[in-house]
Amino acid sequence: MPVPGLGPYDDANIFARILRGEIPCRKVYEDEHALAFHDINPQAPIHVLVIPKTPHVSFADFAATASAETVAGFFGAVATVARELGLEQPGYRILANMGHDAHQEVPHFHVHVFGGRKLGPMLPNPLP
Ligand code: AMP
Repeated sequence: MPVPGLGPYDDANIFARILRGEIPCRKVYEDEHALAFHDINPQAPIHVLVIPKTPHVSFADFAATASAETVAGFFGAVATVARELGLEQPGYRILANMGHDAHQEVPHFHVHVFGGRKLGPMLPNPLP
């Protein structure tokens, strides 16, 4: 079910639980700002999620309320993950769903990193 992209933050969401170590993930990277792990339902040969360690519902919330250091640290981590996955030379796509119309499912801001094959058009055409 899509979730609203605006607060309040729900501390029981699945990514908050992964951050607290309450449920497992297939971790690919971690630093002080971010955790990255394989998506449970991959849409490409490489499909990794990168999440900030701070509690933000969505990109809109993250952009509006995270500190400049947190935002820079997080997006630096996204780039590091893609590089460490070997995706810089072939290329990759990053994507963040925000709110109902984008079908955001988990109310903790995250960036999808897709790669490992040619990724086709940015959106399905025609839209389903
Ligand atoms: P979004 O629609 O942008 O909110 O995407 C949420 C993503 O989280 C989906 O691609 C799901 O497959 C993924 N997901 C949900 N639960 C888990 C989990 N426990 N571990 C890894 N990925 C998950």
